[in-house]
Amino acid sequence: MRIRANNPSPMTLTGTNTYVLASRDDSAAVLIDPGPELAEHRENFLAEVGERRLAAIVLTHQHADHSEMLGSIDQWAPDVPVYAVLDRFARHTPPVSDGNRIVFGDDPTDVLEVVATPGHTSDSISLIHDGTLYSGDTILGEGTTIVTYPEGSLGDYLDSLDRLRELCDAGAFTRIEPAHGPTIESPAEVIDHYRSHRRERIAQVQAALDQGARTAAEVCDIVYHDVDPRVRGAAEQIVRAQLAYLGALSPDDV
Ligand SMILES: [Zn+2]
Repeated sequence: MRIRANNPSPMTLTGTNTYVLASRDDSAAVLIDPGPELAEHRENFLAEVGERRLAAIVLTHQHADHSEMLGSIDQWAPDVPVYAVLDRFARHTPPVSDGNRIVFGDDPTDVLEVVATPGHTSDSISLIHDGTLYSGDTILGEGTTIVTYPEGSLGDYLDSLDRLRELCDAGAFTRIEPAHGPTIESPAEVIDHYRSHRRERIAQVQAALDQGARTAAEVCDIVYHDVDPRVRGAAEQIVRAQLAYLGALSPDDV
């Protein structure tokens, strides 16, 4: 079950998706990305958990639109383990890493498999359960995601997309539930689109450098000249990630 937070913006699309998955016997649940600190959102996802035992909370990555609600966790889930890559978010359990299995019920299928997908941020993970990939911000339901700088890395991101494509080919998942936007029913196609989009952008950044652009702002003026002014800051961040990837980050931008 998807519960969308009321925090729409150019960066969060229609808002952050929080997921509540029930165990096979319906007695327990796991929560993926509690989201922003909005009372109404908390009421909505807790109503979805209902009488079930909340067995685990999983954070796909550090950004506030996914994690902020953890600030009030003592009020709504004080004893529930929080699975996260970063030590500062993990709670009642050690930090997670690639290959970990998060058990949230008694049935052997009540498991989330952790796939490390660094890139958007270094701590980004995706989760596989029952043929679905919960992708966090690594893949979004609409448009493409950004590689943040300095938390993220474009080289890691391209590797993560390759890894997801391989897992998709191997049949590990057939649909994607992203942290923003609608369900993706054709994952291979979308992952390929992400890969070609990133390569096109890298080529455009290289062309801007060849034309003499040096700083992130100068490159951004050329490559992202048509971008919505509200996401100009995000565009400059991804340009920094692209320049770092190309080994061309100007000292002024570090
Ligand atoms: Zn994010």
